[in-house]
Amino acid sequence: MKALLAALSFSSLTLVLCWQLCAAEPIPDKLVVLTFDDSVASQATFVAPLLKKHGFGATFFITEGFEFLVDKKNYMTWEQIKALHDQGFEIGNHTRKHAGVNKQKPEQLAADVEFIEQQCLKFGIPKPVSFCYPGYATSETAVKLLRERGYSFARAGGAKAFDPMTDDPLTMPQAFDGKPDSTLEQFKAAVAQAKDGKIAVMTFHGVPDIKHPWVNTDPAKFEAYMQHLKDEGCTVIAMRDLLKYLAAK
Ligand SMILES: [Zn+2]
Repeated sequence: MKALLAALSFSSLTLVLCWQLCAAEPIPDKLVVLTFDDSVASQATFVAPLLKKHGFGATFFITEGFEFLVDKKNYMTWEQIKALHDQGFEIGNHTRKHAGVNKQKPEQLAADVEFIEQQCLKFGIPKPVSFCYPGYATSETAVKLLRERGYSFARAGGAKAFDPMTDDPLTMPQAFDGKPDSTLEQFKAAVAQAKDGKIAVMTFHGVPDIKHPWVNTDPAKFEAYMQHLKDEGCTVIAMRDLLKYLAAK
């Protein structure tokens, strides 16, 4: 009897392990996630057409913070955001007011997260499964809230590749953070980290970003970054597309 029980538990363990290993596709080298923060107008007018030309996926993290409500020259309209979704890009949640989650009460954060979900619903966009921490500050309360609300991924700051074996997908680090003085060499170094099960998550804001010059990326430089991904034969996806690689994690 004891032997039978041992054999049974061994085979269930084998089954569970097999399910975990078989459920997810292996993570290829040169797997890159592109993310764009802050609802900047140039993301719809310049970035999206260029990504389409290359056949790249991407996630756009939407907030109604900054001057989103009054400056429709420099910030996207919800119609433009819906058009990004229609083109196959992912719309992620960057909160209503772009407040640091570590400075908010749980109910304030919940309301700001829910607001973007409701706006998505209103404009025919699915409820986001990816989140981006405003200003990159995280908190345990926020991670718990995001998990409860069904989010699979949340990007923070940092400067390293995402390792699903050691990093929580709800405090995912970025490998590259596009700034005015960022170089192609730095971008190439970030891409080169995408190997041995690690994934390079890249952060950009506007291309260009007139209202936030400290996170501006020059369009010509951005074209060179994207050309490098193409030349390297990278798999370039939206954050939600990580699900198939991390199904059992
Ligand atoms: Zn932001």
